[in-house]
Amino acid sequence: MEERSRVKGSPLTAVALCALVGLICWLTARSFMSMWKPDVLYPAPGFERHMLSEWEPALKGTHGDTPVYVQKGAEEGGTVFVMGGTHPNEPAGYMGAVMYLERAQVKKGRLIVLPCANMSAFTHNSPQDAAPQRFHIPQEGGKARVFKYGSRATNPIDQWPEPDVYIHYPSGQKLDGGSRSNLNRSYPGTRNDGLTQLVGLAIVELLNKENVDLAFDLHEASPEYPVINATVAHEHSMELAAMVTMELEMMGIPMRLEPSPVNFRGLSHREWGDHCPNVIPILMEAGNPAQGRLRGHTDEALVLTGHDKAYMKAATLGVLFIPYVDRQPLELRTARHVAAVSKYVELLGDVRPGKEIVVEGIPSYEEINEKGLGAWLAPAQ
Ligand SMILES: [Zn+2]
Repeated sequence: MEERSRVKGSPLTAVALCALVGLICWLTARSFMSMWKPDVLYPAPGFERHMLSEWEPALKGTHGDTPVYVQKGAEEGGTVFVMGGTHPNEPAGYMGAVMYLERAQVKKGRLIVLPCANMSAFTHNSPQDAAPQRFHIPQEGGKARVFKYGSRATNPIDQWPEPDVYIHYPSGQKLDGGSRSNLNRSYPGTRNDGLTQLVGLAIVELLNKENVDLAFDLHEASPEYPVINATVAHEHSMELAAMVTMELEMMGIPMRLEPSPVNFRGLSHREWGDHCPNVIPILMEAGNPAQGRLRGHTDEALVLTGHDKAYMKAATLGVLFIPYVDRQPLELRTARHVAAVSKYVELLGDVRPGKEIVVEGIPSYEEINEKGLGAWLAPAQ
């Protein structure tokens, strides 16, 4: 008679395994949910805190609602809007906006800062990218400011599933389904699609209702991507963008100037210009090796220094679009954004007489590169 094999084991093993699974679930859930806590930012004196839902009430109570900070100078002038965090895995864009939020003293005109444009995208990481959850900016006394390194896309908890094909409203242009969760494919926005399109709509409403003159969307891209160390400018923006680009080149800050393609819909530089008649929209890209496809080991150090052997090799082969020797630190990438925004603000009055804006307290390109970001951000508390 055939002998039956029996699986040996005891109830104790089963209980221990269940407990281990429970522990792993608890630890990962705790780590995942820690991303829901917003970063602590310290607005400079004079800023009023608002929420984006004040411009689009349908956003209230959703994970897309996000703080908007407004500072008005004593003298009347134009209005500038500085936005970071469209793509929270592009930290120089975020840090550029935070620098304006924490340092600006507005003397003339008005400054509106939206540091975390896609708040939902700050609450998770892009899957399989091995990106760190946070990065630390060191400060005096051994302290550090901590910021989240999120994803390019809206969190699937807030918008899922995506279709195979995303049909952009109102153009009807067909894009890949994943683009539906990309804020920079979602302008001018609508209430009748996902959360990302609602955030896009709210931003466009803010730009129009606040009569914004000059609006920035700050980004980063892979070093092997051609639109990098670059400004993308709408037809309305080209005159000022050309003036600023020449000035930046003279300051030793290389900057490409690209016209916003007319047929590529949903992007801030295109739709803000088409749907916000008063706005001069500007999108800028720095070069971030931590989001490039050629990168090797991915960790917080790569986000902060941009040091990567594969990019060093790629640079010697001449396939990169930024000057790269062995690093591309976050302070350099942020300094580019900050210096460029400062120059646009300085020259706005040349194309819009009576709409001058004067903002003090913002460090220069050299100062940020010399002392690092930590020296210029508010001290960690
Ligand atoms: Zn981006």
